[in-house]
Amino acid sequence: MSTTIATASDYLARIAKVRSAMVAQQVDATLLSVGHDLPYLSGYFAMPLERLTMLVIPQNGDVVMVVPRLEVPRVVPQPDVFSIVAWGETEDPVAIVAKLLPSARKIAIGDQMWARFLVELLTKINGATFVRAVDVVGSLRVSKDGSEIAALQVAGSAADRVAQQLHSGQIPLIGRTEAQVSADISARLIAEGHDVVNFAIVAAGENAASPHHHAGSRVIAKNEIVLCDFGGTMNGYCSDITRCVYTGKPANDVALAYDVLFAAQAAGVAAGVVGAACEDVDRAARSIIEQAGFGEYFVHRTGHGIGMEAHEEPYMVSGNSLPISAGHAFSVEPGIYIPGKWGMRLEDIVVATETGPMSMNKVNHSLVTVEA
Ligand code: ZN
Ligand code: ZN
Ligand code: ZN
Repeated sequence: MSTTIATASDYLARIAKVRSAMVAQQVDATLLSVGHDLPYLSGYFAMPLERLTMLVIPQNGDVVMVVPRLEVPRVVPQPDVFSIVAWGETEDPVAIVAKLLPSARKIAIGDQMWARFLVELLTKINGATFVRAVDVVGSLRVSKDGSEIAALQVAGSAADRVAQQLHSGQIPLIGRTEAQVSADISARLIAEGHDVVNFAIVAAGENAASPHHHAGSRVIAKNEIVLCDFGGTMNGYCSDITRCVYTGKPANDVALAYDVLFAAQAAGVAAGVVGAACEDVDRAARSIIEQAGFGEYFVHRTGHGIGMEAHEEPYMVSGNSLPISAGHAFSVEPGIYIPGKWGMRLEDIVVATETGPMSMNKVNHSLVTVEA
């Protein structure tokens, strides 16, 4: 895994917010192990090892990273943010953590910590109650700060460059299988700077009617739609984009439906303003698709939050009345899927700002003809 592009002052600001939440909830200490909260607050992506790595955040006092000695070279030191306590192979890391928390009564625990460590903590910290750290860290991660938005922009631009290569015909389609095109797109995501590829859906013709179709052995022909939905992780943050292309002149029914999809997606993006509800983004996109008579063929929510994880809070779905605030990052990806015939989806990542929705993806939104 890569490191993030956040700085010590970003981590300090985030930890300060965690501590205010801890004060409000009377949490004495927060313990984070594997999962995304750890790199969010320290820059360090721990491997999911059986050896304990744990960031210990007391309500007051020093933040300490307890880490296996052999993993220390992978930790980028942030002396202003945390000190490092390395433990050797014959030491008990849980005892080290317990010793750092002599008087903690209420302790918040990261969701992805191994159960064995919690079981051991229960025996070594007598009388403490344990709660989930998602209540002190999770809500902070929903609103991205400046360095996170910068990372989303860098990843989005890299995904855009691959979409541009698709539009320009540099990624041949006709005569190749979906799986071959998927592998080509994946290689290009890496070549454009991603550290890992998270997915590269390629669905041709009737396969595009299945929103999460797995790219397979179907050979792409002339005169059909090809849906490409791909993304990866770069500097710790995710990209996610969908563009459809047509291997010829689009058939009339497809062209007409695409005009509806185009308008619905633009309306969804425009609705992503500070103060609106998350469900308003869904409603804005869905109402256009419904008015055109395709309502029953738009079978999923309009979007998901994105950040260190490809899918995270907040979700753009009917029933989510959470107000959008500055720094919320989410996808806007309506689709129309006609079983047995064709499917289409159009997706950008959007960040809500005080001056309006800012799209991380700027590559052409039209149904581009690719005759390669
Ligand atoms: Zn999806
Ligand atoms: Zn996607
Ligand atoms: Zn998405």
